[in-house]
Amino acid sequence: MPECDPGYYAKHCLPDDGAMESASYSNRPLVVRAMRLEHYGEPLVARELELPAPAASKLRIAVSACAVCRTDLHVVDGELPDAGLPMTPGHEIVGQVIALGVQVTQFQLGDRVGVPWLGWSCGHCESCLAGAENLCPQARFTGYQLDGGYASAVSADARFMFRITPAYTDEQAAPLMCAGLIGLRALKATGPARNLGLYGFGAAAHIVAQIA
Ligand SMILES: [Zn+2]
Ligand SMILES: [Zn+2]
Repeated sequence: MPECDPGYYAKHCLPDDGAMESASYSNRPLVVRAMRLEHYGEPLVARELELPAPAASKLRIAVSACAVCRTDLHVVDGELPDAGLPMTPGHEIVGQVIALGVQVTQFQLGDRVGVPWLGWSCGHCESCLAGAENLCPQARFTGYQLDGGYASAVSADARFMFRITPAYTDEQAAPLMCAGLIGLRALKATGPARNLGLYGFGAAAHIVAQIA
């Protein structure tokens, strides 16, 4: 299916929020290189596709680094349903802002940002209003239902992004977008515990072990 097909974007790009065209000169459609999952269980395929102008609440990012998470492998193997093929995996993204939607005020062109697994939520359900957007029944996830970071550039919703401190390189910051978030959340949940056990020593645990 051609990537400019409206049905494709309905499935793979963020909901549009009544988006307006941005006035920025840099918001023209952009041809990007992406590693696409076209068939479950098969190697990713290098493709070129057109990234449309970012919608109102989105940014376009030139990808500097995108780490690999175990969940990426679950997606590629077809173990998570409804990815909707073809798509671009990768949800531990760090990059530079190269285009802004008109509603984006918290970031500027040139900012270094990170994009995590949670890519969009509805903003008005019980979970969203309680600050638990990850439990939103309509939540959509980067590199799964939304095209991810194994690409030269990607569009993502600014409301779910992080500003990246200069203290970290791109490669150091990228794993923080999923493994780091999970590890920090688990560590906080331990409260004043004096002894910690780290089980299944993987991406999250090896980060927690450095800060616990
Ligand atoms: Zn992950
Ligand atoms: Zn919601």
